[in-house]
Amino acid sequence: MTGGLYIHIPFCRQACHYCDFHFAISLNHKAEMLQAMEKEMERNAGFFEGSLLRTLYFGGGTPSVLKSNEIEKLLATARKNFGIEPNVEITLEANPDDLTKDYCKAVHDLGINRLSIGVQSFDDNDLKWMNRIHNAEQALSAIENSKLVGFDNINIDLIFGVPGSHDERWLNNIKTALNLDVQHISTYSLTVEEGTPLKKLIQKGKMQNPEDALSERQYVLMMDKLETAGWEHYEISNFCKPGLYSRHNTSYWQGIPYLGIGPSAHSFKDGKRRWNAKNNSWYIRAITEGTACFEEETLTPANKANEMLMTGLRTRWGADLDKILSATGIDIQKAGLPKIEELLAERLIYKEGPILRVTSKGKLFADYTASQLFVV
Ligand code: SF4
Repeated sequence: MTGGLYIHIPFCRQACHYCDFHFAISLNHKAEMLQAMEKEMERNAGFFEGSLLRTLYFGGGTPSVLKSNEIEKLLATARKNFGIEPNVEITLEANPDDLTKDYCKAVHDLGINRLSIGVQSFDDNDLKWMNRIHNAEQALSAIENSKLVGFDNINIDLIFGVPGSHDERWLNNIKTALNLDVQHISTYSLTVEEGTPLKKLIQKGKMQNPEDALSERQYVLMMDKLETAGWEHYEISNFCKPGLYSRHNTSYWQGIPYLGIGPSAHSFKDGKRRWNAKNNSWYIRAITEGTACFEEETLTPANKANEMLMTGLRTRWGADLDKILSATGIDIQKAGLPKIEELLAERLIYKEGPILRVTSKGKLFADYTASQLFVV
């Protein structure tokens, strides 16, 4: 058994309009937060029961708001409390405006071997619309700086379906990404989440609602261009050069145990899922006082089967109905037969032995497709 460690850095310099992740824009309590996170790692030193970490992931928020010596300290605490595989993948999510050449070199020297850069677009109009803190030029130099200091495993995030962003602009984003010679692209449709500034601005009529037709068209354009360029579309939102999957995210989809550190972070082990408080001061207080900072649930066989269906159908490896049967005792083949036949007839899925996979058309509706087969 192996494991993954996720460290959530709940700070950002500026709030992007569309974002519903957990973060604060004041860095006032950064020192206490980092201390609490170190304590949380110490408290959970036995979590992996001797198994080695194959991945370590700094996510957020914006982990690159941390100075390199702060990251160094978190890494040292992780190394002290958990066994780590020698060829561990260590990812740092970073915003382009933080990635100066000096910063890139400093984090590379610490052993960070993968960067995930929040580019979102190479067009200043899109970036302004999203209220991103960086501009297109900074995105380009961030990637350049990363490569100069030796990073050879770089992901960039891109958002499609931005109102006002015509297909030509989107195609230019894809072309730029391909020319930059990065290894991985995570791509998300712009969605309007409850409680975000974007939702409020749309309600006030100050911003336009994203259109499904635009998102669908741009997603199809993306699939077409990247697959033609030889990239693997290995998960609904993720593309990579052959074989260069994100090991950390792949572990989530394969049910490998992971421990989440920091407010709002999730953990999973032995069929149990837990999630930390989504409030910075509450989290710091709970850790300092030694009380529980999370809630927990045990997955029922039905929860587990549905999750295996959902994650399987989103990936190139598909949902293996035999594996679901042996892991949960639930026979989707039998229980969901009429639905499976319907989805096959609609050409949303195809079947190879016990494995269901989504077709190209089905990739547009993978979550819907999985939900049609859910057991209760
Ligand atoms: S998208 Fe990233 S940088 Fe923007 S507010 Fe959300 S977490 Fe922070």
